[in-house]
Amino acid sequence: MAPERETKRYEELVALIERYNHHYYELDSPLVDDAEYDAAMRELAALEAAHPELAREDSPTRRVGGARSSTFGEVRHDPPMLSLGNVFDAAELADFDERCRKLLKADGSLVYTAELKFDGLAVEIVYRDGRYAQGSTRGDGATGEDVTANLATIRALPARLAGARVPAYLSVRGEVFMRHDEFERLNAERLAAEEPPFANPRNAAAGSLRQLDTGVTASRALDIALYGIGRIDPPDSAHGQGALFDLLSELGLPVAEHRFRGELDGVVAFYERWRDGRHRLNFDIDGIVIKLDDFAARERVGATSKAPRWAVAWKFPAKEAVTTIVSVDLQVGRTGVITPVANLAPINIGGVIVKRATLHNFDEVRRLDARVNDTVTVKRAGDVIPKVVAVLVDSRPNDARAIEPPERCPGCGKELAREEIYIRCVNPACPAKALETLKFFVSKDGMDIEFFGPELMQRLYAAGIVKTFADVFRLTRDDLAGVERMGEKSAERIIESVRARRRIGLSHFLRSLGIRNVGDHVAKVIARAAGSLDALRAMGADELMAVHEVGPGVAESVSQFLADPALRAIVDDLVAAGVEVADEEAPAPPASAVAGKTFVVTGTLASLSRQEAEALIEKRGGRAAGSVSKKTDYVVAGESAGSKLARAKELGVTVLDEDAFLKMMRD
Ligand code: NAD
Repeated sequence: MAPERETKRYEELVALIERYNHHYYELDSPLVDDAEYDAAMRELAALEAAHPELAREDSPTRRVGGARSSTFGEVRHDPPMLSLGNVFDAAELADFDERCRKLLKADGSLVYTAELKFDGLAVEIVYRDGRYAQGSTRGDGATGEDVTANLATIRALPARLAGARVPAYLSVRGEVFMRHDEFERLNAERLAAEEPPFANPRNAAAGSLRQLDTGVTASRALDIALYGIGRIDPPDSAHGQGALFDLLSELGLPVAEHRFRGELDGVVAFYERWRDGRHRLNFDIDGIVIKLDDFAARERVGATSKAPRWAVAWKFPAKEAVTTIVSVDLQVGRTGVITPVANLAPINIGGVIVKRATLHNFDEVRRLDARVNDTVTVKRAGDVIPKVVAVLVDSRPNDARAIEPPERCPGCGKELAREEIYIRCVNPACPAKALETLKFFVSKDGMDIEFFGPELMQRLYAAGIVKTFADVFRLTRDDLAGVERMGEKSAERIIESVRARRRIGLSHFLRSLGIRNVGDHVAKVIARAAGSLDALRAMGADELMAVHEVGPGVAESVSQFLADPALRAIVDDLVAAGVEVADEEAPAPPASAVAGKTFVVTGTLASLSRQEAEALIEKRGGRAAGSVSKKTDYVVAGESAGSKLARAKELGVTVLDEDAFLKMMRD
């Protein structure tokens, strides 16, 4: 018998998790973050392992998801849609591999696929005779909610399957999710309508799909990635996950582009790559999913009532944590904007110790109602500085102090100006601004001088050694020898890394000057249009405006910079200090055969409608046009193509038949 204390804790945990599930799965509005939820589940699983007699038949460790809402019709899932077990580090992954090998009595290493774990909600889609027939949520795994009409609004999902392998019956499974730009658009719209914003893209996706009014779902651009099948009839020859992805793509179904197939080492590398690189994606992932590739092996390994034994999720470390604001610094940026930055009680967020987090601006401070000594939630996303995302107002101590906007610049003491939501120092001689501009110049986003960090710049600036951009290129070993704690080797490295940037491409050079509105992309666009530094210096605002993608704001700030004698002198000075600005090379041709190309679809295609063919073209970055001209790159000709095909032949435009077209779309 389990001791009373354990029994009590067990009941407590079950009730708690059920409450969390209800809020997460049915109300689309979680009470706690995933890390806290996962910790409760792990504690429950550990209690059940230590005291098996406690484990209830319907324990959350044995069931999938939440309950089904009665608002929607029922759809049975056959076979059931399961959840996934979790691992949290490479050692646990190795245990998973060991278990699979034991069950399969395998001597050698196994082949796995690793995929991104989309943070959305699982759905099943049924195609009958190649036509979209039904869509449902996972629900409790055995029965889900009928959301056929709502899922049909997802543009990536074809109404008809394509290609030569269309089965009579197909149920496919995947994840519906919302991209970041759509999430931000939707939340801005909700705020403007005084509706509460969604906490994260997952809740927004779930809330948008589970709508009674299909019009509401249609007004929000949801996305989908498919990664599995329920049933296929007649059975296909695809015998593993890699082959399945090929089949799904051939059928015209949306699949994730990033995946890996191979042995365990590669899986670990894939995990590390996406743990560190997930912020580059325009959607949320919360880990990777590792699956035995071979379907026959999966059969032999089997499943529990909750999850397959042949697959496992490896979650990323949490990106949020709770800590307190100890004090607030006012930081002067290179454009003079004053940013309040919170100094925190140090906290480990996903393996990194975080001591500071931005509060963005004073409107944000007011919106959050953040005060010194408050307990706050801090979020870390990628390389960017962590931010305070919420204040736990209920935990506010008596000595909490308001964070007031400053009257004067902490850098130069001059009065500050208010510009929309920003408070800005407009003193051109402000030393704090000058220092930030210099730090930017050497940073990754500027000249990208490898061993020249912000602290080094701070010291050199304070010592009066570096006052201008060009001073960086005049630095000598003697200058560096005077810097505190600077060894000979470090000094050598710094001098070398500066030397490596003496010859620099025009766009790289342009972005480093810190001209307002000119980031990496705009710098490239302008540099390509200009070609050389001399040509750029001769360009006026009108010529800049004529460059595709350059708007009036950019044209104005660049032309002002180029016209101002003091700023022109900065460039002259850099050239005098030995910087050589290389001409910009023409851009590389687009990587895909479809991107940027114009297609005309004509005649009747056997496996898809003209609209579907055009949607495929556009999704791959091509253009679908209505009439054939000299600018047409390809004409896709189906059955009984008429005058357009004749015109294509006349103009010598490449003609593709349906198979060639589908192959091109697949590639
Ligand atoms: P899960 O999300 O951990 O894993 C299973 C799911 O992963 C599948 O059903 C599928 O929807 C999804 N998935 C995404 N990409 C996939 C891919 N490439 N291949 C296969 N599956 C893929 O399990 P779950 O049962 O859906 O939910 C449990 C998790 O949900 C918890 O670990 C927690 O993170 C979260 N949760 C949070 C709360 C909360 O209150 N914060 C409550 C309940 C659940």
